[in-house]
Amino acid sequence: MQETNSLLATARAKLEASLLAKGLRRSGERFAILEEVYSRNDHFDAEELFLAMHQKSYPVSRATVYNTLEVLVDCGLVRKHRFGEEDNVKSRYEKSLGRQQHAHLVCTVCHKVKEFCDPRLHLIQTNVGNALQFSVESHSLVFYGQCTDESCATKPTDDTGKLDSNA
Ligand SMILES: [Zn+2]
Ligand SMILES: [Zn+2]
Repeated sequence: MQETNSLLATARAKLEASLLAKGLRRSGERFAILEEVYSRNDHFDAEELFLAMHQKSYPVSRATVYNTLEVLVDCGLVRKHRFGEEDNVKSRYEKSLGRQQHAHLVCTVCHKVKEFCDPRLHLIQTNVGNALQFSVESHSLVFYGQCTDESCATKPTDDTGKLDSNA
């Protein structure tokens, strides 16, 4: 767990510097939230993070969860994704320190998120940048569909590929 610990130490230092720069309080709550985020390997939403903090007997307010997430996104410790379509976008978060760039698969039925890395994506990015004289800094790629996990509820047919609103 050495690697995880040093990653967390780096993340804590970065958050500390960022809070200081923004003139925000360096409260224990914010660092507890950071710790929870860095203990996870999933793509969570703000509500899930809020509930996880309560389950760990570290109750923080929703407002604290939301604004701490914004700070973490701002200082590059957390990546924010907006999966879905215009009228039904879900914000999901994941830690970013120590992570490679990767693409996502989002299940439109159970909302599970999977990741994959493929070096060919980087090759496309480089080639397109060269061909169009464009300095590409990053990309995001999301595949939508249905996973084959047993726990994935099967839905009747008229699923148009949009994210379900009642999950
Ligand atoms: Zn699924
Ligand atoms: Zn991811």
